[in-house]
Parts: sequence; C-alpha cells; structure tokens
Amino acid sequence: MKTKTIKKHFLQLSMSGSGRFINSIHYGNVTSSPKAYIQSGLHADEAPGYMVMHYLLELLDIADSEDKIRGEIICVPAANPIGLDQWFYERLQGRFDTSNGINFNRNFPDIVQDTAKIIETQLTNDPDKNRALIRDAMKIAIDNLHPEDEAGALKKLLFSLSFDADIVLDLHCDNQAIMHIYTGESLWSNSDSNSDSNLNSNLELNLNSKKSFSSAYELAAWTGAEAILLANESGGDPYDEACSKIWCKLKEIYPDYPIYPSCVAATIEYRGEADVSEELNRQDAINLYSFLHQQGYLSGDIPLKMPELKIDATPLSGVEHIKAPVSGVVNFLRRPGEMLKAGDKVAEIMNPYFQNEENRITELFCKIDGLLFSLTSDRMARQGRILAKIAGKKPIEGKGKHLLTA
Ligand SMILES: [Zn+2]
Repeated sequence: MKTKTIKKHFLQLSMSGSGRFINSIHYGNVTSSPKAYIQSGLHADEAPGYMVMHYLLELLDIADSEDKIRGEIICVPAANPIGLDQWFYERLQGRFDTSNGINFNRNFPDIVQDTAKIIETQLTNDPDKNRALIRDAMKIAIDNLHPEDEAGALKKLLFSLSFDADIVLDLHCDNQAIMHIYTGESLWSNSDSNSDSNLNSNLELNLNSKKSFSSAYELAAWTGAEAILLANESGGDPYDEACSKIWCKLKEIYPDYPIYPSCVAATIEYRGEADVSEELNRQDAINLYSFLHQQGYLSGDIPLKMPELKIDATPLSGVEHIKAPVSGVVNFLRRPGEMLKAGDKVAEIMNPYFQNEENRITELFCKIDGLLFSLTSDRMARQGRILAKIAGKKPIEGKGKHLLTA
C-alpha cells in the first residue's frame, strides 16, 4: 500500500493575501522510527539541490510502490518560497532575504536554554527516555517561538518539521566547488559514539576514528564528498546545526546524565551552482538513496557497496578564506580540487585602471597547506569579498566564532 502523502503548510506572517506555502512529502509510517528529513532550496537559487531531490523523489516513489520504505522519510523539495520569489534584473536572489539582507541559512532559533529548563528535573539515567523527553521539550520550545517576520516563520516551520528527525540533510551548492559537506564534529566519531568518553573526545581522536563508522562518516562516503568540514558550532546558526548541536549543548549543561547526539545533520554542497546535469545529479540521488538504505530506511539488501571515503575530514576552523584586499578583476590560477602548499599563488586581481604600474596586479597567496575546495563564481572582486576557500588539517589560530566567514 502506498504511504506517500503531501502536506501543504502555509507560511505565517506572509503579506496579506500572498499566501506562501511549502509542501512536505511524507513516506512511510509517521509513528515508526527512524525518521529522516531532507530538504532542498533553502538557498532558493541553488539549482543542483533541487535536481538531486527530483531524482531522489523518483526513487522513493518506486520504493514506496514496492512497499520498501521503513520508518519515516520527509522531503521538502522547495524549502524557501520567499527566496524563490526574489527575481531581480534577470537573476534569482535566493540566498539573502532582500527585506533585511539576512542569509536564509543563518540565525536559526537557538532553543537550547528553553529546552534545558523544561527537562531540568525530569532527566533520568535511561538514555532512551532522555531522548524522548528532550524531543518533547524541543517541540514545546519551538511551539513557543514568536518569529518577527516571514523568514522567521519559515525557519520555525522547517525546524518544526525536522527537530525530531534522526537524520537531517540540507541540500545546497557552492559557487564553483568540488563536492563537500559540513557536519558536526561530535557526529563524526564512530558508531560507539554513545559513550561519554567519545562525546568528550577531541577532534584529533574523532578524525582518526575509523574502526566502525558513524552515520556522518557513511554519509560522506556515499555522497563521494571530496572535502568534509567538521564543527559543532560554525557560527551564524545554520539550519543543520539548529537540529544537531542541541544534543551536545544539553550534555554540557547536564553532564551527569546520558544524553547522546541523536540527530545526524549535514549541509551537503553539491559542487558549484552550474553543476546541473541528469547524469551527475541522478547519480547523486542514487548515492543518497543508498545512504538511506544503509541507515535502515529501506528494506532488502543494498545493491551497492559503500564507497571508500575519498578524503579525511578536517576542522572547519582550519579553513582559510582568501579575501580580496583590493577591488578589481579576479584571475584564478588554481581550480577547486587542487592541493595547495603554503605560499602558493592562488589568484591575481587585475586593476587596468590604475596608472601606477605597482598597483595593476595584486597577487594572492595562501597561508596554509590544504585543499582548495571552493571559488567564488564572480570574477569581479570588491574589497573584503571571500574569493577562495582552502581546507587545512589544523585549526587556524585567531579564527574567532564565525568559522564560515572569518
Ligand atoms: Zn546554500
């Protein structure tokens, strides 16, 4: 029997009469665990995520017709109707809310303290009861949120659909990039992560822990991630962290109780914004489907073997952002996927309008050894703009809290 249902959720705080909404597509049994939640289009102008979702839904429809779906899978194929409506000068501006300039994937509500207060006197030594207690408290905390604008209402809605999921995947793309993912440092450690020692283990230990694989590790392997960036708090409160970091935070507040990371959340960057093709994205969908299969969301044997991890994970705090020191035309000398050595020249900024010979070319060098994984797709730079991102193996000193931009 087919289980697929589609629910329409109207967005609160829309302009009167505009009535924006999102559709959520539900497979499986709502009352059975586990629960996976997958969305695309939070940055509404990022086409590859929609394409992967398109082919994933085809696969899930077939699985549903064959009664193969186990647990519950929720897909939201167009997560940001506000952004989808922002066409300016022949370009879709889906990354920032044009009413206030805020990135749609930042400032997701932090409900840690509200949740902590609700569970304060009810925690026990039973980790399963604690997980259920925390999820009930999260629901209350989310219900009590009072967003001030339409984007806030959207964030509350997306959060309310996914806060109790075991797996949360947010499908994105970068400008010009290789396949990469962002996920929680505490999620990366091996499958025995349900132990206090692992929760407190340092990043170095987590990175070397490959005896048995965590779901985050398996996600990285199945998706073919060519860069894997780990942080528990990247700064800016992106969506995936809103779902996952609360478990670590509550453990910090209540260290004497068994509270384990119970939501594997990741932002998957499907390469660059122009990397859209049936061949590429259909395979991406097959990879995601295989991951879901391995995690127990589909019955029967997995027809494919999990690929080897392509690269070791590295700390998000080890990413060097090369910024433009001057404005001008950017000429990149290296491409995403190249390994760089400290001191390598990455780009030149050309200033044909400067009369002074010395200022006509500004050379940009990287400061660390690492993997060049992303370039801006703009070839015009303004001062301060991030042009390139390089993943190094060690945290960079003095990064501060805003790891996605500093
Ligand atoms: Zn994005």
